[in-house]
Amino acid sequence: MKRGMMSRWVGFTVIATAMVGGFAACSSDDENVETKGDAGPGDATVVDGGVLPTNDAAADVRPDQGALAALDCEVAIVGGGPGGIHTAYKLTNPGDGGAPTGVTSGSGVCVFEKNDRLGGRIRDVSFGPNPDDVTATGAFRMYDNQYTYALANELGVQVVTPDSFSNLRAVQDPSDAGQYFGYSGDAFKALYGQTLNDDEMWVKLLCGDQVPKDGTKFPSYSGIDGGIGTKSTLDYTKSVLGASGSQYFLDQNRFRADWTSEVDAVGYLEYGMIDYFGAGPIRYPIPGHSAIIGKMRAAIEAKGGRIFLSEAVTNIVSAADGFTLETGAHAVHAKQIVLAVPHGAVARIAGDVTTAIAATKEYKNVTSAKSMQVTHQWDKAWWKSNLRYPNLAKVVGGDLPDGSAPILRADTTIMPDGTCINSIEMPITAHTDGLKVTRTVYSDNRACVDKNLSVYGDGGAAGTQSLNDELKKSLRILFPAVFDGSANEPQIVKTDVNVHEEAWYYLKTGATANGVTNKSLFDWSVTPVAGKKLYLVGDAWYPLGSGWANAAYISSIRVLNTHFGMTLPSNELQPVACP
Ligand SMILES: Cc1cc2nc3c(=O)[nH]c(=O)nc-3n(C[C@H](O)[C@H](O)[C@H](O)COP(=O)(O)OP(=O)(O)OC[C@H]3O[C@@H](n4cnc5c(N)ncnc54)[C@H](O)[C@@H]3O)c2cc1C
Repeated sequence: MKRGMMSRWVGFTVIATAMVGGFAACSSDDENVETKGDAGPGDATVVDGGVLPTNDAAADVRPDQGALAALDCEVAIVGGGPGGIHTAYKLTNPGDGGAPTGVTSGSGVCVFEKNDRLGGRIRDVSFGPNPDDVTATGAFRMYDNQYTYALANELGVQVVTPDSFSNLRAVQDPSDAGQYFGYSGDAFKALYGQTLNDDEMWVKLLCGDQVPKDGTKFPSYSGIDGGIGTKSTLDYTKSVLGASGSQYFLDQNRFRADWTSEVDAVGYLEYGMIDYFGAGPIRYPIPGHSAIIGKMRAAIEAKGGRIFLSEAVTNIVSAADGFTLETGAHAVHAKQIVLAVPHGAVARIAGDVTTAIAATKEYKNVTSAKSMQVTHQWDKAWWKSNLRYPNLAKVVGGDLPDGSAPILRADTTIMPDGTCINSIEMPITAHTDGLKVTRTVYSDNRACVDKNLSVYGDGGAAGTQSLNDELKKSLRILFPAVFDGSANEPQIVKTDVNVHEEAWYYLKTGATANGVTNKSLFDWSVTPVAGKKLYLVGDAWYPLGSGWANAAYISSIRVLNTHFGMTLPSNELQPVACP
């Protein structure tokens, strides 16, 4: 099996119980809809790399009630996620990239971030008393051939290789005859009447005979016959694999949003080809990606760059020699703007330029997945017990052989009462093992996320208890030897609930027919409105690599090289040939 898609954000492939005084925080603090967490002693705290906020206090003081303090910036960067912070970092610390044009001093670079922390979808949460006692709830890992890895090295952030693990898989039988368990996709294929396994199906979808290839075997997905330009990924799998083949394939893929009626087939296949065949080994930054953000922040501030937290930009208007921006505290004049906010956030900022952007076909042909993560801290490291499924009559393809790597992940399509965990990740680094945390729910199945949210309700202790009670049902199905309903069941100490309305991005179904491609979207994003010095940065505009912070960094580099005269290696993702 390849390292790529089946292991996206996880690693390679061998492939909650009564609360103990715990409360939960539900965060949706990037571009999310719900913010329902109640503060409590068991709350997990979000960190941004351990550096204290350093808003410019003088500039923050409002001269009169209602009046906004005036502020001048050469470059205003809106959004303090990876894309925005990387842009500010390179403008203030250009290194070999050459001095940026249009920036005369570090203090000319201003970052405005809506939240009270930096990082956006990189969201590390504290589960202990020490600064490094954090674990990721959003971005977790990287490939060692991504720019993110080089950036971590440049910044001196520790990056580790995860432990090997075995993967329990559970499916609700497609004919609804019951629930089955196994340890590889191959084990399940007979259940769906298939001869190919999921890996072989990946190869068929990406490189089968239906895909035209050039003389060196590079695929051209837009050349696939049968109206591919208007096809979704779901239609495409059905046409290539048939109805039950497609169902088998989808049930074996834990990223449920990738193969839906919403996602443009050509756009996704281009992504899939690179992620499936082009991925390097998985690595984990320690304690998390927030360390990368924190180091960039320190470097920005050391050069006089100004970072304003809790200052959402609400309005951007073209003005003489640039733009006027409004936040809750400042009226900002900026000569250039880097808009590094999520896709949906662009349209929520008022003004002539964002209105023009939102009206374009490029903007309209982007769609996103919604995701939920529930992170639990436990009273004991229960994943060190024997997690093999005990009832072998329900195990397809045979028991996990003795001596296999421990089961540290389980993916499941079983949804008791409509709720789901979809995928649970147990600790695969010493760091997370020490914190006794699991990412118990990792789901981009919209129906399941919405159902879980309805159980969670208004959050707080009651909502958390309700949600954890439901999630325990899934854990009892997957690991009945450990979660046996007895008083000895593992206990949840802390819960963190996090939802991203826009978790990662795709071209929307029909984009190809509408003339919007991964390439044309990315080209457009660099100068989305002709003649205006406003540039888009973020993984939303580079769906060829979206779902990885790498995509946001690549987008940032492109803007730095195009508009600030820098000469950084582009690190753009390269096409991959079929085997
Ligand atoms: C569950 C999950 C798991 C992931 N796993 C990984 C992984 O393992 N590895 C990996 O590399 N990547 C992973 N990613 C992807 C990674 O988090 C994103 O690619 C990355 O965060 C994108 O950066 P960005 O700067 O484009 O956007 P964001 O991170 O979304 O940052 C945008 C920022 O803009 C701010 N903002 C919005 N509106 C305004 C406004 N009006 N004014 C000011 N600020 C505003 C937001 O608050 C936010 O801080 C994961 C993402 C999710 C959701």
